[in-house]
Amino acid sequence: MDEYLHIYTRVSTAIQEKGTSLDYQTELGKKCAKDNGLECEIHNEGVHTSSSEDPMERPVLRTLLARIENGEIRNLFVYNQDRLSRNEIAWTTIKVILMRHKVTLYTENGKISFDNAMDRLLFGVISEITAYENALRSERTRQGKLRSLREGKTWKGGPPNFGYQLKEKQLIPNDNEVVWLKKIFEIYSDGKPLSFIRMELIKNKIKTRRGKTLWNDRSVDVILGAENNCDIYAGSYTYRDKKSGEVIKCKSPQILPMKLIEQVRKERKKRTSMRTVREVDTNYYLLRDLLICDECGSKMWGRINHKLKREFYYCKSGHDNYRYKNTKPTKTCSLGNIPIKQTEDIVWDTVMDVMEQSNLFKDEVKTQVTSSSSSMDDQRLLIENKRKNVSRQKSKLTQENQLLSLLNNHEDDHQDTIKQLELKILNLDINISEEEKLVQELDEKVRWVDWVGQFAKKIDNLRDVTEPMERRTFLDGVLSKIEVKKIDMHIRSINLKFKYPYINDSLKWNDPQDKSKGYEILDGEYNRMIQSKLSKSVGKKTEMEIISKNVSTTKKV
Ligand SMILES: [Zn+2]
Repeated sequence: MDEYLHIYTRVSTAIQEKGTSLDYQTELGKKCAKDNGLECEIHNEGVHTSSSEDPMERPVLRTLLARIENGEIRNLFVYNQDRLSRNEIAWTTIKVILMRHKVTLYTENGKISFDNAMDRLLFGVISEITAYENALRSERTRQGKLRSLREGKTWKGGPPNFGYQLKEKQLIPNDNEVVWLKKIFEIYSDGKPLSFIRMELIKNKIKTRRGKTLWNDRSVDVILGAENNCDIYAGSYTYRDKKSGEVIKCKSPQILPMKLIEQVRKERKKRTSMRTVREVDTNYYLLRDLLICDECGSKMWGRINHKLKREFYYCKSGHDNYRYKNTKPTKTCSLGNIPIKQTEDIVWDTVMDVMEQSNLFKDEVKTQVTSSSSSMDDQRLLIENKRKNVSRQKSKLTQENQLLSLLNNHEDDHQDTIKQLELKILNLDINISEEEKLVQELDEKVRWVDWVGQFAKKIDNLRDVTEPMERRTFLDGVLSKIEVKKIDMHIRSINLKFKYPYINDSLKWNDPQDKSKGYEILDGEYNRMIQSKLSKSVGKKTEMEIISKNVSTTKKV
């Protein structure tokens, strides 16, 4: 392959130059090519009139550099290096390009190949300069961006807030959304809850910023200024510059009347102050969630009020009514409170009475103690795998449901696909519930064995267990729930529902004369009911005494 020497010539009129005419430069170049056995190609910039040394303002040089970067040029001739540029930075840039592409530079004074140590050292220095230059450039860009942000000429990035859209990187009002934005603000100012606004948006098929039709309270709350106090709608928002940490106030188009914004701000303050800050209850309630109010079906929670010296379990329907004010029907309940200490004693003592008598329980403990732990590990693994499978199927179901709602909302007719999809969803549903049931059964069995193992050693003195959490673990193992019912003003029934028929079960020897022939356990009963009487005694404190404790039933829960 014939190699070419590319000869670059130029003359500047801005500086007086002698003996460096274009012809002279070309001639020298040709001679150099001949001496080195190279073909030649001339690149004549001509007479350069501008005083600017920027190589980008010289078209021939620009093309030449582009070809170098393309790897087309290996040898370059210039009369002297200031033909390329007198400007230090420009020359540096050109030199970096030459080095990177291993171009040999020929001048009147000889050739530079950038191969020696000196050149490499220089290259290092040059790289530093290049990096510094780039940093300066990006800082200029950053400053430009920040200025443009401040003036509202650029959006900070990411999806714009509800009510806006982007046009050429700039925030502009989205007229359709502004209509709804106003409505949202007005409804909120009227004192309606977020859940109400949310329903309105869903009913009217308004899309969230992520294009979904399912709104949640939080997404509504954010529009109403939960994060930025509605500033953006009033004409400004803040942006935090990651590099400097500087917080910049940026302009935005004001798309809501100030009066409406102020109303919403006021309403938000009002709602926040209404939300009473409740202390976190650190007490441990042995029977929390295990006690069920039989009047209304709610769970019962405990409360200890040291000031009033009152300790009681109460039906949490009141709490639920407040919490789900707008989403669930209100429950009415007249159960009232029951004292903590006595209720816990009644439950614990009754369970102890039952368990100590139970042949079934003793038998279970015996079986557990002798069963192998490796088979239990296999069971645990199986459960784990099944669980994973269920969650995989569930996410698949979610996807299919999304697709279905998409198709249902689509203008085109997708009846066939919808039918197929509905069938698929139905099958998935059935499959999941079957698997879940199986997992639950397996899980219960494993937990049961674990649980029995925990108490196996203490079986003879269970009554001595006093640590509340340990008591709770035991109760969770044997009880499914405890129902509390109001019989009349003073009488409450406490119905303990056991998971297995422990109450008054019995053991029957296959051959009473020969016990080696084994035995059979006959099921007992599941429920034990205790009636107790509430009475006010010292001060406000309510006492409770047991009035009957042997009402048992065989019915399973
Ligand atoms: Zn209740």
